Amino acid sequence: MHYFHCIRESCGATYPLAENIHTCPRCGGLLDVEYTFDREAAAQWPVLWRGRRASLRTLDSSGVWRFRELIPFLSEQESAALAVTLGEGNTPLLESRAAARYAGLDAMRFKHQGFNLTGSFKDNGMTCGVTRARALGMRLVGCVSTGNTSASMAAYASYAGLVPVVFIPRGEIALGKLAQALEYGAVTFQVEANFDQILRLIFRLAESLGLYLLNSVNPFRLEGQKTIMAELLEQCGWREPDWIVLPGGNLGNVSAFGKGLRELRDLGLIRRLPRLAVIQAEGAAPLCRMMESAAAELQPIERPQTLATAIKIGAPVSWPKAVRELRASGGVCVAVSEQEIADAKAVIGRAGIGCEPASAATLAGARKLRAAGVVGPDQDVVAILTGHLLKDPDYILRYHAGELECGGRLLESRLANRPRIVAAEAAALEAALREAAGDRLTASG
Ligand SMILES: *Cc1c(COP(=O)(O)O)cnc(C)c1O
Repeated sequence: MHYFHCIRESCGATYPLAENIHTCPRCGGLLDVEYTFDREAAAQWPVLWRGRRASLRTLDSSGVWRFRELIPFLSEQESAALAVTLGEGNTPLLESRAAARYAGLDAMRFKHQGFNLTGSFKDNGMTCGVTRARALGMRLVGCVSTGNTSASMAAYASYAGLVPVVFIPRGEIALGKLAQALEYGAVTFQVEANFDQILRLIFRLAESLGLYLLNSVNPFRLEGQKTIMAELLEQCGWREPDWIVLPGGNLGNVSAFGKGLRELRDLGLIRRLPRLAVIQAEGAAPLCRMMESAAAELQPIERPQTLATAIKIGAPVSWPKAVRELRASGGVCVAVSEQEIADAKAVIGRAGIGCEPASAATLAGARKLRAAGVVGPDQDVVAILTGHLLKDPDYILRYHAGELECGGRLLESRLANRPRIVAAEAAALEAALREAAGDRLTASG
């Protein structure tokens, strides 16, 4: 049957899914949601999932619930009655020659989770997290967030008629994300502390405040996020890419991807595990540091620093799961600089794809791994773009104005694209256009 399983080897306790818990009541360890799958039936699931793309049923239209055989924490009837879905998932897999060239690869593809309703992969997880809250009869849901979790939780909770409460570090989240939390009706607290400090506080207070916590320590969110891998593999015709590259903050996503891929392998739907590459910003890279020093425990970074606010996390909660998945898949963790993130982001934008800063760390990381010879030029690399371009317009405008700064240092804007001022007059416009676009037209192709 289905149950919670404490991932600590020294504990390994199990609990029925009916219990309202997020972490192991015995030892405080992280929990997995585990299922007893029907391995024989699984061979037919890809056909079933594919068929649902033509269905008009609400549940089938979701890019998460379409794969509900992989997340059977509710029965089919319960899922149909309770699932809180806003049509998440079903995101495109985009090929970019420009990005491949930049990374030094023959080809490169981007799975763009910014196509979700609230513009990030948090929607893939939140649909399951909020559905679980509803199934438990919780009214008040809360999260501590660097921005995207609060935007997503606000939307899903309000859509379900629950009350969202968000705690965000004051002055440290991107403008688009704060705007979303407010517009979607979240009770919003800007707290004078960083993400890690607020999270510690709210972990302690959640129960007395009556909050159902929807941070990524909540294993049901990771269950939703793991279906991103099923959708990706479906788009790849069930042929495993060599590498899946993603940014790492609180490390929930890499944990979800790893679990999802292992389950697909155990079900016989793929033969081998793609290698996971987690990319962190240099100023917020506790996992990279831990892997490099071969330490047994993660040492938190007291004051994480990066303009990629979505991964500005010094004490990632899910690190034990992340380490497990990197080991299982032969994965790696690398850190990239602010300049490398800014350059990669501009390349992804110029390619007509666009993403928020944290997402661009993937291309910067792929380039670095390629240069180091870890990734071969002909390997099949898929990068996960975690968030939408418009999440952080401030970063973009500063970049193109040549005013992007981090820690008091000005970054170079190598692909700056400045708006031009022109008189309202035909000849002036024509001359200006010829001057501005001439090079690009002759150099096209
Ligand atoms: C949340 C988030 C991340 C980090 O994901 P984790 O699961 O915390 O590692 C990266 N990019 C974006 C855009 C995010 O919203």
